[in-house]
Amino acid sequence: MNPKLRRPLVAGNWKMHGSRGEAGRLVGGLLAGAAGAGAAEVVICPAFVHLADVGRQLAGSPIALGAQDVCAEEPGAHTGEVAAAMLADIGCRYVIVGHSERRALYGEDDALVARKFLAARRHGLVPVLCVGETLAERDGGATAAVVLRQLDAALAAAGAGAFEQAVVAYEPVWAIGTGRTATPEQAQEVHALIRGRIGEKDARISASLRVLYGGSVKAGNALELFSMPDVDGGLIGGASLQAGEFLAICRAAGG
Ligand code: PEP
Repeated sequence: MNPKLRRPLVAGNWKMHGSRGEAGRLVGGLLAGAAGAGAAEVVICPAFVHLADVGRQLAGSPIALGAQDVCAEEPGAHTGEVAAAMLADIGCRYVIVGHSERRALYGEDDALVARKFLAARRHGLVPVLCVGETLAERDGGATAAVVLRQLDAALAAAGAGAFEQAVVAYEPVWAIGTGRTATPEQAQEVHALIRGRIGEKDARISASLRVLYGGSVKAGNALELFSMPDVDGGLIGGASLQAGEFLAICRAAGG
């Protein structure tokens, strides 16, 4: 493991999975093993309906609570949406914004994602801003342009200062849920690009910014990815639904 200034972070994105009972059992398994999870900061992001239950279970534990999405608007007449103020009120510390599934399946564009990023920051939540290219974009040589476009939208809206309390997750779309992982070198190249962009605005914030890798991370490939100098942990989908596998990934990040 490279010596890094930044505390590694591992976030589990449960997506739209799990009954109330399954969520409770998964948290129970994580709490039972959390003492051996290593030095990484650990966050779990259940579906909205499970946040309050899971938050109560996590109370007093080292595992933090996060949401998978947030409304860009303040509380009001927005049927079906959940405001950042509500997430903060029930104990969320983190919120994922701009996940590729939201971009692809629900039409979220860079401008909306930037507004969600701002809403999170207004209420003291730490946004986990997801960026990443599709396979066609990578094959077309557009990876850097796409990732920087997505990053720049939030940077322009919120300013570099907002990234002092933010996380960026590089998630190549072709690696999410596919079993196909970016090589450590591919991940490092994009992570360095992201850090460099923030560094053009503010060197101190760039040095402290945590940039996570996401895309088919498992216990078996986590260590080689997390050993890269600009990879500060992971955003984990499928493997976060198994306590033992997720805790092994946390140990790989925490050294
Ligand atoms: C994700 O959904 O953010 C993700 C990285 O999923 P998976 O780990 O299953 O590829």
